[in-house]
Amino acid sequence: IYHITLTRVQRREQTDGFVAVVRDVTEQERLNQARREFVSNVSHELRTPLTSVKSYIEALRDLGDDEKDTRDNFLQVIAQETDRMVRLTRDLLQLSGLDRGQTYNLHQSIGLTDLLLQVQQRFQLQAERQGLEFSVVAPDDDDVFIVGNRDMVNRILDNLLSNAMKYTPAKGHVSVSTRVFRDRVIVSVKDDGIGIPKDDLPRVFERFYRVDKGRSRRLGGTGLGLALAREMVERMDGTIAITSEPEQGTQVSVTFVRDEGVEKAR
Ligand code: ADP
Repeated sequence: IYHITLTRVQRREQTDGFVAVVRDVTEQERLNQARREFVSNVSHELRTPLTSVKSYIEALRDLGDDEKDTRDNFLQVIAQETDRMVRLTRDLLQLSGLDRGQTYNLHQSIGLTDLLLQVQQRFQLQAERQGLEFSVVAPDDDDVFIVGNRDMVNRILDNLLSNAMKYTPAKGHVSVSTRVFRDRVIVSVKDDGIGIPKDDLPRVFERFYRVDKGRSRRLGGTGLGLALAREMVERMDGTIAITSEPEQGTQVSVTFVRDEGVEKAR
């Protein structure tokens, strides 16, 4: 897409010629388009739960005093939808912080063993409730550190684990494993759940992209988890990769930068 500005070059009353300035605005147009799509997605994502909350509130008003079970049911839906809006706005704020180039301390030294222990504690209960087998394998070496922002690292792992648990039916397996490779630490989250079709796989890191919108919504997803994870990983000079096979499962591997300075100093 080009914008052309034509200017007449004039001396006294006489036209000497024309100057044409041609600007390539393809990139700018692409960004505008992406922004329009994003705003439209956000509006839609918020309107859906709001509409549902509103209709449940109206239905509550019409309930008789003896319909306690139905009332509890409706209130639960309202609470769930509200939770999802809270998560959505939290994710949106985080994305917007990253977009605006907000500064984060990216030089924290994070001990891998402790990090994984905390992850295990955060997800153990959910795994049990869902009837999933859940394991976290920490490295043999107690003294492995990664460099980055602690909150970001936790958010990334939480997003990956909550996906693994969301998209894996009961009796399935979810595991976290780590590998140290030269100056990198690779953390992999693996599940044997529903998997992702080949055609969708390249797009799952896009904002709001979901393989199955209905399923993601039902399970409380915002469609921003992987997009956020990727942005945060890149901020910390890491990489993120996903492999998946429908009906077989999914593995997401994140590479963090190893903090060898701290390791040596200890
Ligand atoms: P959501 O909030 O919908 O889970 P994400 O950005 O975290 O959003 O993931 C995008 C989509 O990728 C999901 O809607 C789902 O279709 C797919 N996905 C992500 N992780 C997994 C997984 N472990 N197993 C199967 N599908 C997954």
